[in-house]
Amino acid sequence: MQTRITEMLGIKHPVVQGGMQWVGLAGLASAVSNAGGLGIITGLTQPTPEDLVKEIALCREMTDKPFAVNLTILPTIKPVPYEEYAQAIVDSGIKIVETAGRNPEPFLPLFKGAGITVIHKCTSIRHSLKAERIGCDMVSVDGFECAGHPGEDDVTNMILLPLAARRLKIPFLASGGLGDGRGLAAALAMGADGVNMGTRFMVTKEAPIHEKVKQKMVEASELDTSLIYRTLSNTARVFKNNVADQVLEIEAKPGATKFEDIQALVAGVKGRELFESGDLDNGIWSAGMVVGLIDDIPSCEELITRIVEEADAIINKRLGKMASA
Ligand code: NAD
Repeated sequence: MQTRITEMLGIKHPVVQGGMQWVGLAGLASAVSNAGGLGIITGLTQPTPEDLVKEIALCREMTDKPFAVNLTILPTIKPVPYEEYAQAIVDSGIKIVETAGRNPEPFLPLFKGAGITVIHKCTSIRHSLKAERIGCDMVSVDGFECAGHPGEDDVTNMILLPLAARRLKIPFLASGGLGDGRGLAAALAMGADGVNMGTRFMVTKEAPIHEKVKQKMVEASELDTSLIYRTLSNTARVFKNNVADQVLEIEAKPGATKFEDIQALVAGVKGRELFESGDLDNGIWSAGMVVGLIDDIPSCEELITRIVEEADAIINKRLGKMASA
């Protein structure tokens, strides 16, 4: 499948692996890129910019295909030296960056000056239009179904994607709720030039997380996610577990929630431990509604090949037959 995005990113299939905290390491990113998609290393998963430089070098040893780095700009417990991470990305010769969270404008002169293609992840049309206006090359339109931070508007991709197709000139990826060939075919039909998948790539052989976490996501239904931090206007969709329930109980108490009241429960480091140990109630982890569509743990190669073949069959056989009937 050739789209504007496969051409601009130099990839075989219109499938991008979204940035994921603790998951986007060189092993997963290179597996996705070797399978013909675009793998992404998550910048802030590396404790320092120097570690990020090393992870990028490791990824280069594992693939000769294009891969990207994600830089997420959202509230964090410890201050993050974003400029240093951005400089490390440029100095490493990375040519594609996925930004997410706040407005990436302050980083664009640096990235564009280095010839980097910038994909900004947006949860609304107004943010997508702004990203286009400030010079991002493409956006990843992130519907309410998504894992992690869906924003505060609660608009699903059935509305966001056709709106993006009507209003944007730059190409866009559909992100949130994507995990199979039906999703890819639907996203292309709604005007996207590809898909961005996070949760689906967590449940692959190469994802660096404990088998128990992957198995739990295979067993889960579409009802097994929770929206936390609504009271802090930093909403996050996470897998429904005891810790997410405790956070929701605290947030439901009368009066304003203070982040300090939940910090010990949600600290990212607890989520990292959970991914390592498989202790499913050690912390929280991001997961999208698409867990309801995940039934197995394939390799990235098997997954991408299957999705593209399914989408191709839907477009050329099912829809093609309907259209010519
Ligand atoms: P962390 O340990 O610093 O914080 C844990 C969580 O608490 C994060 O979701 C963070 O956004 C939130 N948080 C921190 N301070 C807050 C405050 N003052 N008010 C409201 N919420 C607050 O984060 P981490 O797990 O090390 O992750 C690093 C960065 O990556 C964070 O910005 C996080 O939001 C982001 N992230 C993004 C995704 C995604 O889906 N895009 C998933 C995981 C993490």
